[in-house]
Order: sequence, then structure tokens, then C-alpha cells
Amino acid sequence: MGKQLAVNKVIIVGAGPSGLILGILLAKEGVKVQILEASHELDKNPRAAHYAPSAVYELERAGVLDEVKAKGIHPDAVCWRHPDGTFIAGIKSRFDIPHPMVCLPLDQLDVILLNHFEAQPNAEVLWKHKVESIDQDENEARAHVESPSGKQTFGADFIIGCDGANSQIRRSLFGDLNYPGETLQSQIVATNVYYDFTKFGYWDSNFIIDENDWYMAARITKDGLWRVTYGDTWGLSNEEYLKRQPERFEKILPGHPKPGDYKLVSASPYKLHQRCAESFRVGRFLLAADAAHLCNPFGGLGLTGGIADVGSLFDALVALKSGKADDSILDKYSEVRIEKWQKIINPMSRANFKRVCLDESEESRNEFWALCKKMEEDDELAKQMSQGTNVLREDFKEYITA
Ligand SMILES: Cc1cc2nc3c(=O)[nH]c(=O)nc-3n(C[C@H](O)[C@H](O)[C@H](O)COP(=O)(O)OP(=O)(O)OC[C@H]3O[C@@H](n4cnc5c(N)ncnc54)[C@H](O)[C@@H]3O)c2cc1C
Repeated sequence: MGKQLAVNKVIIVGAGPSGLILGILLAKEGVKVQILEASHELDKNPRAAHYAPSAVYELERAGVLDEVKAKGIHPDAVCWRHPDGTFIAGIKSRFDIPHPMVCLPLDQLDVILLNHFEAQPNAEVLWKHKVESIDQDENEARAHVESPSGKQTFGADFIIGCDGANSQIRRSLFGDLNYPGETLQSQIVATNVYYDFTKFGYWDSNFIIDENDWYMAARITKDGLWRVTYGDTWGLSNEEYLKRQPERFEKILPGHPKPGDYKLVSASPYKLHQRCAESFRVGRFLLAADAAHLCNPFGGLGLTGGIADVGSLFDALVALKSGKADDSILDKYSEVRIEKWQKIINPMSRANFKRVCLDESEESRNEFWALCKKMEEDDELAKQMSQGTNVLREDFKEYITA
């Protein structure tokens, strides 16, 4: 039998996209929300850009979608090519579905989210507040923080770890090295670059498949900024990866460009992880998004999965706050979201990556190309597939008892 617990004040650790979306949703429901953020500013690295229909649904619920659409783009199609640019198969985007995919670089999305969060009277971000340890009792959860005014403690009804892949909340709950899963033995370098791929006939999103020279090239802004994410040799230092970027571009990109032929805006090497925490709830502490699970970025399921967590957690907390559910709904949150990662996010993201680096059987590859072909001819199938990520959402109404 669960307990009725108050949800008057919530602390969210991390002013990344998941923390800010959850903060906006909860603050609009009258919950006092404090975000503790270690950095002095929003993250600027080249990371997420594409948000699938399930994520767009939550952006709409948070009231930010019109602004995201106005600043972003709706990619028209995705395709797969050989290294010489030869087209293999493609899928045209559908705009006749409820929440078509939107693309906007994460640093720009974060600015919109922060403005909406700070516009709420009961919401604040405390910058340069790094959570170092935690504890809890039957009345509240507490975060012990290093801040510009020294060590401080903040308490709330619940504390939610939206503090990313290296989450201190997760490490404090389960141990520093306890993030079950694996690091794939593949290296990527994500870059933002101005280079005209359209003159080579490239579509808005392109996956170039190859054992060594695989990459993704996707237009991510209206003014022609492209995200190029490519693979490189395993085991080098970040400095070495960045040094090798010009020769990698010259080797793999269409037209074999030299540095003067493009304008590089940013570049970041990343390791690829497939990991999921053993639980997303311990008492008054909860985990969401990268703090709770990780996947490789091919297919854009990372934050899309994280935003789906946030939608579920919001529904669960609101049900608890209004007395329509007891705190066992938070265990249900953990159970449901772990299952979504295990059954959908982990296998799908692995398959997307294996397709790009030719680490799957020819038979599965051909099956996938045949599916793309079928979607060209079968309108209903195409419509259904383009809304596929909606399976990441969960309707929490069925867990509400009152
Ligand atoms: C190259 C690349 C491309 C990607 N593309 C896509 C895509 O197209 N679509 C998609 O859905 N996903 C994509 N992803 C994944 C996506 O970027 C992440 O899932 C997402 O950024 C995670 O958001 P988050 O809010 O969980 O964490 P983060 O964005 O990592 O934010 C965590 C915040 O917590 C703060 N923090 C950390 N520790 C502490 C502490 N101790 N105290 C206080 N604050 C703390 C950090 O400073 C940070 O601001 C991509 C990832 C990469 C690397």
C-alpha cells in the first residue's frame, strides 16, 4: 500500500533540456520548482537537434512548440547512401500527422526552455550550484551543494536527477561505477559545419553507410548549418580526434573539401554508451533522461527517450499531488520507463547504429531497404511508421486509482 505524499516543492538537478521541460510543466501546475545547476550557463556542445513526434507532443504540452517551430526546421526526408553518395533507400517525412518531427540545435532549444521556465513566478534556476551529495528522511529529500556562497543544503518533497550522463544523483544512489550496460568500442566526432551538401544532391538527413567511413550529415538550421557526425579510430585522445578532423572531412565528405571550403562551427568527440540505471526511484529521489539511461545518437532516441520520461514523471507527480494516486505511481514510473528503454530504445538505437557502420547481416539490411521501398507505396504504413516513437509515451491515466 502506497502513501499519500505532498508535492509542493520539487528540486530538479540540472538545467539541461529534460530538467527545464519538467520544470516548466511542474511550475505551471503550481509546484514550486528550484533547479540546481552546476555550470554558470547553458550547455553549448553540438548534441541533440532532432525531436521525434513523441517529444514534439511534450514540447507542445510545455507550451514551447510554436517558438521551437518558428526557429527550427521540419526535415523533409532521411536517406541512406554509399560513401560515393549513391542513393540506397529513403523515407520522406510526413506532415499530415499530429506532431511531425522538429529540428533545432539543442543550445537554441535550451534558451527557449529557460525563458519559459524563468517566466513562471514559482520557478528559479540557481547557477553555479553543484550537487555533491544527498540524503533523505520521511519528510524531505536534501541536496548538499557547493555554491558561490559556500556549502549549502536544499530540501524539497522530491529531488529529480536530470543531471546528465555523469549524474551525481544516480552515483549517490547506486555507487560511482554502477551504471549497468556497456560502452560501445566506437568513437564519434560530432561537428556543426557550414558546407553545401545540397549541391551533391544530399537530402535533409543522410546516413552514409560503410565499415570505416560511416557518417551522418543532416541540415539542422534554416541558414544551412549541418550536423556531421562521423566515426574515427578507437583509442585516441580528444586532442588527437580534433586534430584529425580536417583529414577525415577531406576523406569522407562529398567533394573532398579542404578547411577553406567549409566553416567549422564546433566539434566534440563522444563515446557511445548503452546504459540504464537499475531503478529510476529511491524514496524521494527520481531519475530521468541521460541520468537514467543512455543510447548512441543514431536515430535520435536519446533525448527523445528522455523527454518521454519527463512526460511520464510529470503525469505521475501531478496524480500524486492531486490525491488521485499514492506514491506507488512513482514506482510505476520507474518500471514503465525502464521497460521502454529495454524493449524499444536500446534495441532500436543499436540497430540504427549497426546499419550505419555495416555491423549487421546483409539480410537485415536488405529487409530494412525493402521496408523503406514498401513505405513509398503504402501510404498507411508510411504514416504509421513516421509516428513510431509514440510508443515511447505512456498513458498514466490507467495507473490512477481515484
Ligand atoms: C552528438 C550527439 C547527438 C545527439 N542527437 C540527438 C538527437 O538528435 N535527438 C535526441 O533525442 N537526442 C540526441 N542526443 C542525446 C541528447 O543530446 C541527450 O540525451 C540530452 O542532451 C540529455 O539531456 P539531459 O537534460 O538529460 O542532460 P544534459 O543535457 O546533459 O544536462 C544535464 C545538466 O546537469 C548539470 N549537472 C551535471 N551534474 C550536476 C551536479 N552535480 N549538480 C548540478 N548540476 C549538474 C549539467 O551541467 C547540465 O547542465 C545526441 C547526443 C549526442 C552526443
